[in-house]
Amino acid sequence: MTTYSGNCHCGLIKYTITLPGSIYEQTITSCNCSWCARQAALFIYFPKKEAKYFSGEDDRKSYNATLDPARAFKHKFCPQCGSYMGWQSTEPQPAAFLPGFEGINVRMLNDIDFSKLKLKLEDTRSKYGEYEVGKWYEEKEKEGT
Ligand SMILES: [Zn+2]
Repeated sequence: MTTYSGNCHCGLIKYTITLPGSIYEQTITSCNCSWCARQAALFIYFPKKEAKYFSGEDDRKSYNATLDPARAFKHKFCPQCGSYMGWQSTEPQPAAFLPGFEGINVRMLNDIDFSKLKLKLEDTRSKYGEYEVGKWYEEKEKEGT
């Protein structure tokens, strides 16, 4: 078992995750979708609710980057420093992406040698196509949300 500590840049959000072994043995996902590419995020899929938060869990702000309700998940970020903490499926969701798991942004973990991570490219961009800048905002305005 190896425990890794993580926090946002300003330290409002602090947590640990415990893995069965080293993080360098795990597959880390590098997604090229319109959101993840902008965040330079790297994910480890981690059992939901097993991250231990010491501060800031409820302070995190949410952003829903997709208009497709079947793929709905919320991206969580720090309201003070803007650090992107990772995603969580929107529950309940029959077609939720990886039910029972959340995506922890490995970029927020301390003492990680990024050159040693075993990266897997998730080619989401080819699967779902390019997104239209501004379309999300226009649709949300129509819905009045
Ligand atoms: Zn912060």
